[in-house]
Amino acid sequence: MKHNLELLMDQAVELINKSENIYICSHVQPDGDNIGSTLALYMAIKKKKEKVNVIKVDDIPSDYQFLPDIQAFKEHDTNSPVDLFISLDSSDVERLGQGNEFLKKAKKVINIDHHVTNDNFGDVNIVLPSASATGEIVYKFIKHMNIHIDKDMATCLYTAISTDTGRFMYSNTTYETHIIASELLKTGIDLNSINIYLYQNRSVERTRLFLDALYNMELYLDGKVGMAIVTQQMMDKYNAKLEDTEGIVSFIRDTGPIEVACLLKEISEEEIKVSFRSKKYVDVSKIALEFGGGGHIRAAGCTIYDTIDNAKNIVLDEILKSFR
Ligand code: 5GP
Ligand code: MN
Repeated sequence: MKHNLELLMDQAVELINKSENIYICSHVQPDGDNIGSTLALYMAIKKKKEKVNVIKVDDIPSDYQFLPDIQAFKEHDTNSPVDLFISLDSSDVERLGQGNEFLKKAKKVINIDHHVTNDNFGDVNIVLPSASATGEIVYKFIKHMNIHIDKDMATCLYTAISTDTGRFMYSNTTYETHIIASELLKTGIDLNSINIYLYQNRSVERTRLFLDALYNMELYLDGKVGMAIVTQQMMDKYNAKLEDTEGIVSFIRDTGPIEVACLLKEISEEEIKVSFRSKKYVDVSKIALEFGGGGHIRAAGCTIYDTIDNAKNIVLDEILKSFR
Protein backbone atom coordinates (compact mmCIF):
# COMPACT_ATOMS: atom_id res chain seq x y z
CA MET A 1 0.00 0.00 0.00
CA LYS A 2 1.20 3.45 -0.82
CA HIS A 3 2.16 5.81 1.95
CA ASN A 4 0.07 8.98 2.27
CA LEU A 5 3.01 11.14 1.21
CA GLU A 6 3.48 9.11 -1.96
CA LEU A 7 -0.20 9.47 -2.82
CA LEU A 8 -0.01 13.23 -2.35
CA MET A 9 3.10 13.38 -4.50
CA ASP A 10 1.38 11.25 -7.17
CA GLN A 11 -1.49 13.74 -7.22
CA ALA A 12 0.90 16.67 -7.52
CA VAL A 13 2.85 15.01 -10.36
CA GLU A 14 -0.41 14.33 -12.15
CA LEU A 15 -1.43 17.98 -11.87
CA ILE A 16 1.95 19.05 -13.27
CA ASN A 17 1.68 16.56 -16.14
CA LYS A 18 -1.72 17.74 -17.23
CA SER A 19 -1.20 21.49 -16.79
CA GLU A 20 0.12 23.83 -19.42
CA ASN A 21 0.75 27.22 -17.81
CA ILE A 22 2.53 26.57 -14.53
CA TYR A 23 3.52 29.26 -12.04
CA ILE A 24 5.74 28.68 -9.04
CA CYS A 25 5.42 31.50 -6.54
CA SER A 26 7.94 32.81 -4.04
CA HIS A 27 6.88 34.60 -0.87
CA VAL A 28 7.43 38.09 0.52
CA GLN A 29 10.85 38.60 2.10
CA PRO A 30 12.05 35.40 0.47
CA ASP A 31 14.71 33.42 2.32
CA GLY A 32 17.21 30.78 1.24
CA ASP A 33 14.74 27.92 1.61
CA ASN A 34 12.06 29.66 -0.43
CA ILE A 35 14.43 30.77 -3.19
CA GLY A 36 16.43 27.54 -3.29
CA SER A 37 13.44 25.21 -3.40
CA THR A 38 11.67 27.38 -5.96
CA LEU A 39 14.64 27.32 -8.34
CA ALA A 40 15.23 23.58 -7.95
CA LEU A 41 11.59 22.77 -8.66
CA TYR A 42 11.56 25.21 -11.58
CA MET A 43 14.58 23.45 -13.12
CA ALA A 44 12.99 20.04 -12.58
CA ILE A 45 9.61 20.92 -14.11
CA LYS A 46 11.40 22.65 -16.99
CA LYS A 47 12.76 19.25 -18.01
CA LYS A 48 9.21 18.11 -18.70
CA LYS A 49 7.22 21.24 -19.41
CA GLU A 50 7.65 24.28 -21.57
CA LYS A 51 5.59 26.92 -19.84
CA VAL A 52 6.83 27.13 -16.31
CA ASN A 53 7.38 30.49 -14.65
CA VAL A 54 8.62 31.79 -11.33
CA ILE A 55 6.70 34.68 -9.79
CA LYS A 56 8.81 37.23 -7.98
CA VAL A 57 6.76 38.99 -5.30
CA ASP A 58 9.58 40.76 -3.47
CA ASP A 59 13.25 41.66 -3.89
CA ILE A 60 15.72 38.78 -3.92
CA PRO A 61 18.41 39.45 -1.28
CA SER A 62 21.92 39.85 -2.69
CA ASP A 63 23.07 36.75 -0.75
CA TYR A 64 21.22 34.50 -3.20
CA GLN A 65 22.14 36.17 -6.49
CA PHE A 66 24.82 33.50 -7.06
CA LEU A 67 22.24 30.74 -7.45
CA PRO A 68 21.88 29.20 -10.92
CA ASP A 69 18.84 30.43 -12.88
CA ILE A 70 18.17 33.20 -10.34
CA GLN A 71 17.01 35.37 -13.26
CA ALA A 72 13.99 33.05 -13.53
CA PHE A 73 12.40 35.17 -10.77
CA LYS A 74 10.27 37.61 -12.75
CA GLU A 75 7.25 39.79 -12.36
CA HIS A 76 4.39 38.56 -14.50
CA ASP A 77 1.24 40.02 -16.01
CA THR A 78 -1.66 39.19 -13.72
CA ASN A 79 -3.80 38.65 -16.82
CA SER A 80 -1.79 35.60 -17.84
CA PRO A 81 -3.69 32.29 -17.81
CA VAL A 82 -2.75 30.08 -14.86
CA ASP A 83 -3.47 26.35 -14.96
CA LEU A 84 -1.38 25.40 -12.00
CA PHE A 85 -0.05 27.49 -9.14
CA ILE A 86 2.65 26.04 -6.89
CA SER A 87 3.42 27.63 -3.54
CA LEU A 88 6.62 26.72 -1.71
CA ASP A 89 7.51 27.48 1.91
CA SER A 90 4.45 29.70 2.53
CA SER A 91 2.28 28.86 5.50
CA ASP A 92 -0.67 30.97 4.31
CA VAL A 93 -1.76 32.89 1.23
CA GLU A 94 -0.96 36.19 2.90
CA ARG A 95 2.76 35.36 2.62
CA LEU A 96 2.37 35.20 -1.17
CA GLY A 97 1.82 38.95 -1.51
CA GLN A 98 0.86 39.80 -5.10
CA GLY A 99 1.19 36.13 -5.91
CA ASN A 100 -2.34 35.89 -4.57
CA GLU A 101 -3.67 37.37 -7.80
CA PHE A 102 -2.29 34.36 -9.65
CA LEU A 103 -3.44 31.90 -7.01
CA LYS A 104 -7.02 33.18 -7.15
CA LYS A 105 -7.34 32.54 -10.87
CA ALA A 106 -5.40 29.26 -10.90
CA LYS A 107 -7.35 26.13 -11.85
CA LYS A 108 -5.36 24.09 -9.32
CA VAL A 109 -3.02 24.87 -6.42
CA ILE A 110 -0.19 22.77 -5.00
CA ASN A 111 1.01 23.81 -1.54
CA ILE A 112 4.41 22.42 -0.50
CA ASP A 113 5.59 23.52 2.92
CA HIS A 114 7.04 22.57 6.30
CA HIS A 115 5.51 25.18 8.63
CA VAL A 116 3.42 23.83 11.55
CA THR A 117 1.11 26.78 11.08
CA ASN A 118 0.32 25.93 7.42
CA ASP A 119 -3.43 26.17 6.83
CA ASN A 120 -3.59 23.75 3.85
CA PHE A 121 -4.81 26.31 1.33
CA GLY A 122 -4.00 24.15 -1.72
CA ASP A 123 -5.90 21.50 -3.69
CA VAL A 124 -2.96 19.23 -2.98
CA ASN A 125 -1.14 19.97 0.27
CA ILE A 126 2.26 18.41 0.83
CA VAL A 127 2.84 19.84 4.28
CA LEU A 128 5.47 18.11 6.41
CA PRO A 129 6.29 19.98 9.61
CA SER A 130 8.93 17.33 10.39
CA ALA A 131 10.99 18.39 7.37
CA SER A 132 13.85 20.73 8.24
CA ALA A 133 13.26 22.79 5.12
CA THR A 134 10.90 22.96 2.17
CA GLY A 135 14.05 22.07 0.22
CA GLU A 136 13.98 18.60 1.81
CA ILE A 137 10.43 18.03 0.57
CA VAL A 138 11.28 19.38 -2.89
CA TYR A 139 14.28 17.01 -3.00
CA LYS A 140 11.93 14.07 -2.38
CA PHE A 141 9.39 15.44 -4.81
CA ILE A 142 11.88 15.81 -7.67
CA LYS A 143 12.99 12.22 -7.08
CA HIS A 144 9.35 11.21 -7.08
CA MET A 145 9.02 12.90 -10.49
CA ASN A 146 11.82 10.57 -11.66
CA ILE A 147 14.00 13.48 -12.58
CA HIS A 148 17.74 13.34 -12.07
CA ILE A 149 18.95 15.93 -9.55
CA ASP A 150 21.82 17.71 -11.27
CA LYS A 151 24.50 19.96 -9.82
CA ASP A 152 22.51 23.16 -10.32
CA MET A 153 19.40 21.77 -8.63
CA ALA A 154 21.61 20.42 -5.85
CA THR A 155 23.23 23.83 -5.32
CA CYS A 156 19.78 25.34 -4.83
CA LEU A 157 18.53 22.56 -2.56
CA TYR A 158 21.68 22.60 -0.47
CA THR A 159 21.25 26.36 -0.01
CA ALA A 160 17.63 25.83 1.02
CA ILE A 161 18.46 23.19 3.61
CA SER A 162 21.65 24.75 4.97
CA THR A 163 20.02 28.15 5.54
CA ASP A 164 16.81 26.80 7.13
CA THR A 165 18.67 24.51 9.53
CA GLY A 166 21.11 27.20 10.66
CA ARG A 167 23.90 25.25 8.92
CA PHE A 168 22.59 21.88 10.17
CA MET A 169 22.48 23.02 13.77
CA TYR A 170 18.83 23.67 14.69
CA SER A 171 16.63 21.05 16.30
CA ASN A 172 14.80 20.54 12.97
CA THR A 173 17.94 18.82 11.61
CA THR A 174 17.50 15.04 11.41
CA TYR A 175 19.54 12.10 10.17
CA GLU A 176 17.52 12.35 6.98
CA THR A 177 18.57 15.97 6.53
CA HIS A 178 22.17 14.81 6.55
CA ILE A 179 21.48 11.93 4.17
CA ILE A 180 19.86 14.33 1.71
CA ALA A 181 22.73 16.79 2.12
CA SER A 182 25.23 14.02 1.41
CA GLU A 183 23.29 12.99 -1.71
CA LEU A 184 23.43 16.62 -2.84
CA LEU A 185 27.19 16.73 -2.23
CA LYS A 186 27.59 13.65 -4.45
CA THR A 187 26.49 15.72 -7.45
CA GLY A 188 29.72 17.69 -7.15
CA ILE A 189 28.39 21.01 -5.87
CA ASP A 190 31.00 23.58 -4.92
CA LEU A 191 30.48 23.60 -1.17
CA ASN A 192 33.22 26.07 -0.39
CA SER A 193 31.86 28.69 -2.80
CA ILE A 194 28.30 28.16 -1.63
CA ASN A 195 29.34 28.65 2.00
CA ILE A 196 31.31 31.79 1.19
CA TYR A 197 28.39 33.28 -0.75
CA LEU A 198 25.94 32.43 2.02
CA TYR A 199 27.94 33.02 5.19
CA GLN A 200 31.13 34.93 4.51
CA ASN A 201 29.99 37.69 2.27
CA ARG A 202 28.45 40.25 4.65
CA SER A 203 28.65 43.89 3.57
CA VAL A 204 30.30 46.48 5.82
CA GLU A 205 26.92 48.24 6.06
CA ARG A 206 25.36 45.09 7.39
CA THR A 207 28.11 44.59 9.96
CA ARG A 208 27.67 48.13 11.28
CA LEU A 209 23.89 47.81 11.49
CA PHE A 210 24.35 44.51 13.35
CA LEU A 211 26.65 46.10 15.91
CA ASP A 212 24.32 49.04 16.53
CA ALA A 213 21.23 46.83 16.96
CA LEU A 214 23.07 44.39 19.24
CA TYR A 215 24.69 47.11 21.33
CA ASN A 216 21.23 48.45 22.18
CA MET A 217 19.67 45.06 22.85
CA GLU A 218 17.46 44.94 25.96
CA LEU A 219 17.12 42.00 28.32
CA TYR A 220 14.09 40.91 30.35
CA LEU A 221 13.17 38.09 32.71
CA ASP A 222 16.66 37.54 34.13
CA GLY A 223 18.13 37.61 30.65
CA LYS A 224 15.85 34.91 29.26
CA VAL A 225 14.35 37.38 26.79
CA GLY A 226 16.44 39.55 24.48
CA MET A 227 14.91 42.24 22.28
CA ALA A 228 16.45 44.56 19.72
CA ILE A 229 15.11 47.02 17.18
CA VAL A 230 16.12 48.28 13.77
CA THR A 231 14.55 51.61 12.85
CA GLN A 232 14.38 53.33 9.48
CA GLN A 233 16.79 55.88 10.89
CA MET A 234 19.35 53.16 11.67
CA MET A 235 19.02 51.70 8.20
CA ASP A 236 19.52 55.15 6.68
CA LYS A 237 22.51 55.81 8.90
CA TYR A 238 24.35 52.72 7.67
CA ASN A 239 22.90 52.76 4.18
CA ALA A 240 21.51 49.31 4.90
CA LYS A 241 18.47 47.50 3.54
CA LEU A 242 15.86 45.32 5.23
CA GLU A 243 17.69 42.20 4.06
CA ASP A 244 20.70 43.40 6.08
CA THR A 245 18.80 42.61 9.29
CA GLU A 246 19.00 38.89 8.47
CA GLY A 247 20.94 37.10 11.21
CA ILE A 248 20.56 39.68 13.98
CA VAL A 249 17.82 37.77 15.77
CA SER A 250 19.69 34.46 15.73
CA PHE A 251 22.78 36.20 17.04
CA ILE A 252 20.72 37.43 20.02
CA ARG A 253 19.36 33.90 20.61
CA ASP A 254 22.91 32.56 20.75
CA THR A 255 23.56 34.50 23.97
CA GLY A 256 23.83 31.96 26.82
CA PRO A 257 20.80 32.57 29.06
CA ILE A 258 18.43 33.69 26.30
CA GLU A 259 15.45 31.50 25.51
CA VAL A 260 13.47 33.95 23.36
CA ALA A 261 15.08 36.45 21.01
CA CYS A 262 13.01 39.07 19.27
CA LEU A 263 13.85 41.65 16.63
CA LEU A 264 11.51 44.45 15.58
CA LYS A 265 12.16 45.96 12.16
CA GLU A 266 10.58 49.25 11.20
CA ILE A 267 9.34 48.85 7.63
CA SER A 268 7.53 52.18 7.87
CA GLU A 269 6.18 54.36 10.67
CA GLU A 270 3.23 52.07 11.33
CA GLU A 271 4.40 48.76 9.93
CA ILE A 272 6.70 46.63 12.06
CA LYS A 273 8.06 43.25 11.00
CA VAL A 274 8.79 41.07 14.01
CA SER A 275 11.11 38.04 14.12
CA PHE A 276 11.15 35.50 16.94
CA ARG A 277 13.66 32.78 17.77
CA SER A 278 13.77 30.38 20.70
CA LYS A 279 16.23 27.80 21.90
CA LYS A 280 14.73 25.06 24.03
CA TYR A 281 11.18 25.26 25.30
CA VAL A 282 9.15 28.31 24.20
CA ASP A 283 6.98 27.76 21.11
CA VAL A 284 7.38 31.09 19.29
CA SER A 285 5.01 30.07 16.47
CA LYS A 286 2.20 30.48 19.02
CA ILE A 287 3.34 34.01 19.86
CA ALA A 288 3.51 34.92 16.16
CA LEU A 289 0.06 33.42 15.56
CA GLU A 290 -1.38 35.78 18.21
CA PHE A 291 -0.45 38.61 15.84
CA GLY A 292 -1.65 36.93 12.66
CA GLY A 293 1.78 35.62 11.70
CA GLY A 294 3.19 32.10 11.88
CA GLY A 295 6.26 29.95 11.45
CA HIS A 296 7.97 27.18 13.36
CA ILE A 297 8.37 26.32 17.05
CA ARG A 298 11.89 27.80 17.13
CA ALA A 299 11.57 30.50 14.42
CA ALA A 300 8.52 32.58 13.64
CA GLY A 301 7.41 36.04 12.58
CA CYS A 302 4.55 38.47 12.14
CA THR A 303 3.75 42.03 11.12
CA ILE A 304 2.28 44.57 13.50
CA TYR A 305 0.62 47.70 12.16
CA ASP A 306 1.54 50.18 14.88
CA THR A 307 4.50 52.32 15.93
CA ILE A 308 7.69 50.53 16.90
CA ASP A 309 7.31 51.55 20.57
CA ASN A 310 3.77 50.20 20.79
CA ALA A 311 4.70 47.07 18.90
CA LYS A 312 7.58 46.45 21.28
CA ASN A 313 5.32 46.73 24.32
CA ILE A 314 2.60 44.41 23.08
CA VAL A 315 5.07 41.86 21.78
CA LEU A 316 7.01 41.86 25.04
CA ASP A 317 3.77 41.28 26.95
CA GLU A 318 2.98 38.27 24.81
CA ILE A 319 6.53 36.88 25.13
CA LEU A 320 6.42 37.19 28.92
CA LYS A 321 3.06 35.39 28.95
CA SER A 322 4.62 32.44 27.12
CA PHE A 323 6.89 31.83 30.13
CA ARG A 324 3.99 31.55 32.56
P1 5GP B 1 12.06 35.43 9.87
O1 5GP B 1 12.12 35.86 11.28
O2 5GP B 1 13.36 34.84 9.41
O3 5GP B 1 11.54 36.47 8.96
O4 5GP B 1 11.01 34.24 9.81
C1 5GP B 1 11.11 33.10 10.62
C2 5GP B 1 10.06 32.08 10.24
O5 5GP B 1 8.76 32.59 10.50
C3 5GP B 1 10.08 31.71 8.76
O6 5GP B 1 9.90 30.34 8.67
C4 5GP B 1 8.92 32.43 8.17
O7 5GP B 1 8.34 31.69 7.16
C5 5GP B 1 7.97 32.62 9.34
N1 5GP B 1 7.34 33.95 9.26
C6 5GP B 1 7.95 35.14 9.37
N2 5GP B 1 7.07 36.14 9.24
C7 5GP B 1 5.86 35.58 9.04
C8 5GP B 1 4.54 36.11 8.84
O8 5GP B 1 4.30 37.31 8.80
N3 5GP B 1 3.55 35.18 8.65
C9 5GP B 1 3.78 33.85 8.68
N4 5GP B 1 2.76 33.02 8.51
N5 5GP B 1 5.00 33.32 8.88
C10 5GP B 1 6.03 34.16 9.05
MN1 MN C 1 11.47 27.17 5.19
